[in-house]
Amino acid sequence: MTGLQVRDVVVRYPAGRRDVTTAVDGVSLDVAPGEVVALLGPSGCGKSSLLRAVAGLEPLAAGSVAFDGEPVDDVPVHRRGFGLMFQDGQLFAHRDVAGNVAYGLAGRRTAGRGSGQGRGDDGRPWAAGDRAAQVDALLDLVGLGGYGPRPVATLSGGERQRVALARALAPRPRLLLLDEPLSALDRSLRERLAVDLRAALVATRTTAVLVTHDQDEAFAVADRVAVMDRGRLLQVGTPADLWHRP
Ligand code: ADP
Ligand code: ADP
Repeated sequence: MTGLQVRDVVVRYPAGRRDVTTAVDGVSLDVAPGEVVALLGPSGCGKSSLLRAVAGLEPLAAGSVAFDGEPVDDVPVHRRGFGLMFQDGQLFAHRDVAGNVAYGLAGRRTAGRGSGQGRGDDGRPWAAGDRAAQVDALLDLVGLGGYGPRPVATLSGGERQRVALARALAPRPRLLLLDEPLSALDRSLRERLAVDLRAALVATRTTAVLVTHDQDEAFAVADRVAVMDRGRLLQVGTPADLWHRP
């Protein structure tokens, strides 16, 4: 099995002295290599908890998470090759744009490591060109060509998220986990960035899970949308499937 396999995952939190909240209540989901899946649902339905469980940041009360057939728990965090991006991209304020992206390149996996796993399988060289050229290519990819020397403090919210995306893509993550990456932006900006985000994920063939409460964003970015409610998956389908379903 390649890609991500989520099986019957349950995530619980203590609530008060005796109670527990079941945030994720038996979710199963597969994400194929190169596929982008959105977890869509209202606030509090368990999307972030599921994403954190996939990342290995939340203990599972039951179920399992595996990537390329390997239980995620069996692999040390720094060897998993998972990338994360959040609503607030949390850029390094003391570095310029290029410095932020170069930080991501420093974590880039090299060919051969992990016995043929990861994105090196297609035989392309990992590091084409020098670091500056790679930074430029990544900035072009997210629509920020020429922004390298800009101090982060001078960027708009949308530009910051573009830099955060370039930095997150730089190490060529085996799996990119995006938690409401566009939610802090206003509506018209969000629509444009959703299109550009999809283009960047497709161009880099990045396998990704995106959490959002915004249906338009889910439909614009994802190959398939998993609709969540109260800890469960209601339905999973392509935007076209879900659009035509009552
Ligand atoms: P969503 O991402 O869909 O908004 P969350 O996964 O953040 O949903 O939350 C799902 C449920 O779990 C909510 O009831 C929330 O209050 C609860 N929850 C989330 N994180 C914690 C936590 N660290 N401790 C206790 N309860 C939590
Ligand atoms: P292809 O080889 O099919 O064009 P790539 O995976 O190389 O697809 O990505 C497409 C574009 O994105 C290229 O211009 C490439 O240089 C750039 N790119 C993608 N990921 C990275 C990366 N981690 N570092 C530098 N450039 C990248």
